Amino acid sequence: IWARVCERLEGKVGRNNFVAWIDPLQFDSLSDGVLTFGVPSNFMGNWVDRYFRDSILQEVHAQTGQDVRRLAFNVQRPANVEARPKPRAAAPQPAQRPKPEPTVPAPAAQVAARADAGTRAPLSDQGAPLDERFTFDNFVVGKPNELAHAAARRVAAGGVVSFNPLFMYSTVGLGKTHLMHAIAWELRAKRPDLRVLYLSAEKFMYQFVQALRDKQMMNFKELFRSVDVLMVDDLQFIAGKDSTQEEFFHTFNALIDQRKQVILSADTAPGDIEGMSQRIVSRLQSGLVVDLHPTSYELRLGILQQKVEQFSPEFAGVTFDDGVLEFLAHRISSNVRELEGALTRLFAHGAFMDRVVDVPLAQECLRDVLRSSEKRVTIDEIQRTVADHFNIRLSDLLGPKRNRVYARPRQIAMYLSKVMTERSLPDIAKRFGGRDHTTIMHGVRRIEDLRQDDVQIEEDLTLLMRALGNR
Ligand code: ADP
Ligand code: MG
Repeated sequence: IWARVCERLEGKVGRNNFVAWIDPLQFDSLSDGVLTFGVPSNFMGNWVDRYFRDSILQEVHAQTGQDVRRLAFNVQRPANVEARPKPRAAAPQPAQRPKPEPTVPAPAAQVAARADAGTRAPLSDQGAPLDERFTFDNFVVGKPNELAHAAARRVAAGGVVSFNPLFMYSTVGLGKTHLMHAIAWELRAKRPDLRVLYLSAEKFMYQFVQALRDKQMMNFKELFRSVDVLMVDDLQFIAGKDSTQEEFFHTFNALIDQRKQVILSADTAPGDIEGMSQRIVSRLQSGLVVDLHPTSYELRLGILQQKVEQFSPEFAGVTFDDGVLEFLAHRISSNVRELEGALTRLFAHGAFMDRVVDVPLAQECLRDVLRSSEKRVTIDEIQRTVADHFNIRLSDLLGPKRNRVYARPRQIAMYLSKVMTERSLPDIAKRFGGRDHTTIMHGVRRIEDLRQDDVQIEEDLTLLMRALGNR
């Protein structure tokens, strides 16, 4: 019977879900309305119960006529695996907002099309799907991104067009796409009458080329000019692509002239996009240009806390020990995407190994990520790079001057020497003009403290670490 149920389930949940979750279940028994399976881990049982219970119960009922009340799971552990250690710290409570079930496809409608859109070209094929996690609720605001966030909120309010275009830029992984999707979600909910189109510049180009080839330029123009809100992500992609740029420029102008909202993102400021025509650049600059700064330690910690809540329901039972999130926020400062990747990996490790995630586990399973952020550098290189960065002489950096212009860079250089090399404090002290090692310790602490809420220092550190890491 279970085999027959399986057949039906496969059709219902899709091949991938079936192979990953249903197929590994070992049917054990069905009695007293309880259907029992053997599973390789708790994690797996929880997942199946959470996401596939209803489908399973329905199918069993359809095949046997029996009413099953619940599923039960026996973890079949290989004999040599030790029991789970007692968690020392409770995990943060799971988020209240449940994740949608994986069996349900992401919302199919890509755009908020009007009910009467029948007379117009359908937009849904032209846009890109919106990620349902990328909402304002899930966006953590901190000093580095507050301006971009405020601007996005304003545009998402859907009232009068106040700045047009809104142009957001930053290096990769700092939340541009997230904010654009959030705007789209919000507009969809609040202003279903507006036609909102979100797509990447790459997709824009693809459609343009296709329209050219299929002699559908009239439709193409009509389509893009009939939207109320146009969002084009990663505009740098069409830099150097002359005819696409030209078409984009016309679309863009037409929309702005009709006072339709345009929202754009790129990896640099408009003026720095190489291969972008000057005409376009100056139009891009005519609205509001905001950038997202590298994350601060505080923001990273906030994001991690939020992501733990968000991920928890998927990884029921995984707990994080004290200090793990702080450790990650300190050690992974490149971008939010890496931070998320690290966290997901830790959740998965915790779940599969059925143990509390603590700092040693994090160190071990993120070895590659952590190593790449601590490329071998010498104290010498650090000192020269810091002096360069602050535009002071190396002799002043190492010398006795106590003026803050020299003292702060000096402390930064001490801090970097401590965190980026394996040298001991007395070793470092020797290299800083034979100072006492407590002076070094003091300097390191000072920067550690400042780093928590001084955005400027955090940015200096990010730039310096990047410069040193790139050697
Ligand atoms: P970008 O488009 O700038 O390269 P993304 O918007 O794709 O960056 O962000 C990368 C990942 O980091 C996404 O999963 C996003 O949800 C997450 N992220 C970035 N900034 C934040 C934030 N402030 N709060 C929560 N998640 C964030
Ligand atoms: Mg992006």
